[in-house]
Amino acid sequence: MSISLEFFPPKTDEQRQGLENAVRQLKSVAPDYVSVTFGAGGSTLNYTVEAVRNLREQHGLDAAPHLSCMGGSRAEIRALIAEYRALGIRRIVALRGDLPSGMASIGDLRYASELVEFIRAESGEHFHIEVACYPEVHPQASDALADLSHFKRKIDAGANGAITQYFYNADGYFRFVDAVRALGVEVPIVPGIMPIANFSQLRRFSEMCGAEIPRWLAKRLGAFGDDAAAIREFSSDVVAELCRKLLAGGAPGLHFYTLNRARPTLAILERIER
Ligand code: FAD
Repeated sequence: MSISLEFFPPKTDEQRQGLENAVRQLKSVAPDYVSVTFGAGGSTLNYTVEAVRNLREQHGLDAAPHLSCMGGSRAEIRALIAEYRALGIRRIVALRGDLPSGMASIGDLRYASELVEFIRAESGEHFHIEVACYPEVHPQASDALADLSHFKRKIDAGANGAITQYFYNADGYFRFVDAVRALGVEVPIVPGIMPIANFSQLRRFSEMCGAEIPRWLAKRLGAFGDDAAAIREFSSDVVAELCRKLLAGGAPGLHFYTLNRARPTLAILERIER
């Protein structure tokens, strides 16, 4: 099974130190690769490049940038692809991104499928391309079937694999995988795993991205109040159980949304036999 870890690019020295500490601890799990997110509309552009370089050069990790097309011109994206090639990067996570408030233009490419096409046109088979997918359906999709066919477009455009939005319901993942296999999509679909460290932050996040926190889980977490240690222990057990189910049911690996913290991810991996 493959393990990948996602980080966000630090902007301040304090955040850089935080990432450094997390990476030192997380290296013990020997990730197959790590990835660094890309801020909406290019707002973290330089930070993403800096973090990817640092993870590769200082830590010897196979670090992949996320690249989102929202708000970018073809020329800007072309330059970035060339820069990543020059750095020896072989993997990109290609996304549409979301339009930040106050930004007027969506850019030259409307959807992630167009970005995948563009990367292939610019650089042939140089990059291994991962894309996003949504077992609980993308919040802007008109319906689940339309979302599935839009997902298939990204694969037909040349993506090699997909990482899911996080979820806490294994059946939704298995149904999604069955549905895309029925459409002839054969690429690995790696579940994205969100450890639960801060429940109120997770609730806000989930409302924005359309991920469902099951009622029983929200109620149990809510009942712990401010008892952070109890929340950590309980949620690590719950998410580890989810991971075990996913792997037993054929998931090819796990992609952890680390939020630049080591403990929540390690607590889950320690509970899984690998
Ligand atoms: P798309 O695949 O383009 O889909 C977006 C919406 O458009 C969907 O509703 C889809 O059904 C619809 N659609 C697609 N094609 C068409 C079409 N031809 N006609 C009509 N409708 C269409 N965001 C960031 O800003 N930076 C990141 O680094 C980042 N990393 C992420 C990593 C993962 C693993 C995941 C799951 C998400 C990540 N996101 C990131 C969030 C992502 O950018 C948002 O979820 C965004 O709203 C959709 O991106 P997408 O690539 O899935 O878009």
